[in-house]
Amino acid sequence: MERITISKDLSFSRIIHGLWRLSEWNQSKEETLSLIQYNLAQGITTFDHADIYGSYTCEDIFGDALSLAPSLREKMEIVTKCGIVLPSPNRPQHRTHHYNTSKKHILSSVEQSLKNLRTDYIDVLLIHRPDPFMNGEEVAEAFTQLKEEGKVLHFGVSNFKDHQWNMLQSHLPYPLVTNQIELSAYNLENIEDGTLNLCQENRIAPMAWSPLAGGNIFTSQDDKAVRLRTTLEKIQGEIGAEGIDSVLYAWLLNHPASIMPIVGSGKKDRIQTAIDSQSLTLNHDQWFEILHSSMGHEVP
Ligand code: NAP
Repeated sequence: MERITISKDLSFSRIIHGLWRLSEWNQSKEETLSLIQYNLAQGITTFDHADIYGSYTCEDIFGDALSLAPSLREKMEIVTKCGIVLPSPNRPQHRTHHYNTSKKHILSSVEQSLKNLRTDYIDVLLIHRPDPFMNGEEVAEAFTQLKEEGKVLHFGVSNFKDHQWNMLQSHLPYPLVTNQIELSAYNLENIEDGTLNLCQENRIAPMAWSPLAGGNIFTSQDDKAVRLRTTLEKIQGEIGAEGIDSVLYAWLLNHPASIMPIVGSGKKDRIQTAIDSQSLTLNHDQWFEILHSSMGHEVP
């Protein structure tokens, strides 16, 4: 498994495991532990969480499993997020879906994540989405306090565009280490609007969420999905890949921006598909044919 340098004292596995859907997998804590152990044995050491996943339950499910083998904590990197607030049976005080990046909210969210995850530090904390009510100075105060207390080692963002990135970065005396963005051959927004270039400009490796378009690519009948599937199937045959999922991962992994796909499945064979796709090479013709079929036309 390739490692990607995130900071001088931190690296991530090229393939990351995402826990957004963990509560839907209905696993016993032993099964979740077995999945964590499988990932680690295959070299996937980076796990992506958020406070809100599973209506505020996924971090706790993961932490509960980890409590069966606490020594595994030091073999992994934990990423979690804060800043989105959801109305939920677990948070009856919240009337509406909103964002909160106040110092008070960031600090209390991290305290809860540490408890849920049964750990005393988070490797990387991300602000989940750009907040139109954000006070960069206050976020920086919260980050610096968490860093000084040793509760969070590094900070990043998710779904930030260039101006949002630059605003927050301008308040911090240390670099943001990643931007977690939606990125797949199906969803080109962050390529087309320059967000991927922003990552390259800042020499940071982006984490790609929904690398398989959230699973829609396998079944959707919309024109783009149908076009893309036809091309992916053709190239799957050409490069000897097992499925179109492998080609979708390879499309991200072959890009020069050191994109780190976050696998969203809890099934070991599907995680293995992502790992194996690291060995697939796409030539320029194949990479651009996939791009063209997603765009619906050739590049100018
Ligand atoms: P994804 O890999 O694009 O989609 C996963 C879905 O695809 C699952 O429902 C999975 O079903 C299905 N799938 C995978 N392989 C398949 C196959 N061969 N055939 C049919 N279906 C298949 O990733 P995602 O779950 O949307 O996102 C990945 C991670 O990104 C999340 O866990 C989370 O950590 C992160 N994320 C971040 C944000 C953000 O705003 N920062 C937003 C969304 C997600 P099975 O479960 O049945 O395998």
